[in-house]
Amino acid sequence: MTTFAPDSILVFLETTLGGEPAKSTAELLGAAAGIGTPVAVIAAEAEHLEALAAHAAKAGAHSVLSAQVDSVVLTAPLADVLQQAYELVQPQAVLLAHSLTSREVAARFAVRHKLALSVDALGVQRDEQGVIASHSIYGGAFATTSAPTFGAPVITVRVGSIEERAQAQELALTALDVAAGDSAEITVQDVSSVQADSARPELRTATKVVSGGRGLGSAEQFELVYQLADALEAGVGASRAAVDAGFIEHAAQVGQTGVAVSPQLYVALGISGAIQHKAGMQTAKTIVAINKDSDAPIFEIADFGIVGDVFKIVPQVISALEARKAQ
Ligand SMILES: Cc1cc2nc3c(=O)[nH]c(=O)nc-3n(C[C@H](O)[C@H](O)[C@H](O)COP(=O)(O)OP(=O)(O)OC[C@H]3O[C@@H](n4cnc5c(N)ncnc54)[C@H](O)[C@@H]3O)c2cc1C
Repeated sequence: MTTFAPDSILVFLETTLGGEPAKSTAELLGAAAGIGTPVAVIAAEAEHLEALAAHAAKAGAHSVLSAQVDSVVLTAPLADVLQQAYELVQPQAVLLAHSLTSREVAARFAVRHKLALSVDALGVQRDEQGVIASHSIYGGAFATTSAPTFGAPVITVRVGSIEERAQAQELALTALDVAAGDSAEITVQDVSSVQADSARPELRTATKVVSGGRGLGSAEQFELVYQLADALEAGVGASRAAVDAGFIEHAAQVGQTGVAVSPQLYVALGISGAIQHKAGMQTAKTIVAINKDSDAPIFEIADFGIVGDVFKIVPQVISALEARKAQ
């Protein structure tokens, strides 16, 4: 029987509908490697398991536990798999991505096991008592840590917030045979994917994001945000004011009541920097702001700020980027 290191950290690796590893894979295993021995758990359709397990080992999993599920759409069977892996490994912490699917798996699993759930962590560390998670809360006004008073913490980690990567490992695979749980039976009859109408990276997982605010003035003029995003190969975000004004769909809203992102680069165009907006982007590694008001609060957190009119500056930035690409 496979034995697991006493400092095992169980990492639930999410899979896309197409059977690909989620983008969060490498960073979750990187985070786990910093505090213990990463053990990956994968639940996917049978035909994808082999490739997913190989990918997990390459990304740093010392052991991989894999289980077949009929579909990755329903979260109850995924929580069943995580539960069985947890019982086998007895880890010191469980890490998952702070994505829609993994959040639900984390919550289901933590409730079943009566374990403490820490959400939206920006990092994980150890203190003398065990694994702790760090968070940015109240719109980024406070940096806090969370720790359970008993048991292993279940921690969801914000995608894009971990830079560490684990060393590749030889694949050590254990197949789990997970019986269907006793949750109400649901059958997925059909899954249809919505075709993205652009090749732009998805906002939540993009390493670069360009966001536009009310300062763009209209939906037509918001085109400038897309142009800069395309020049940078970035995802597109927006402030709530831009969404409310109909410049862009709600899915692009960054902030307290929108998406929280942690990209390498965040460019804010015509965004004042209200606390509710900052809550969703201030953990970005490098923040660039262009705003014609030198007192705009966005400049308080910007690494680089340009005071000026976006309609004059952004076209120059795009030309400079294109000239550099042509070199
Ligand atoms: C409960 C609650 C939840 C909220 N959740 C969110 C949220 O999730 N996300 C969010 O973003 N907001 C949220 N808000 C709204 C938030 O408080 C702000 O109203 C909003 O972020 C402002 O958007 P903005 O910066 O685009 O607009 P404004 O505050 O109007 O700022 C526009 C900026 O554009 C600049 N500008 C204008 N023209 C130009 C130009 N030509 N060139 C350069 N700069 C120019 C102006 O100087 C100004 O700084 C929330 C509010 C509440 C109460």
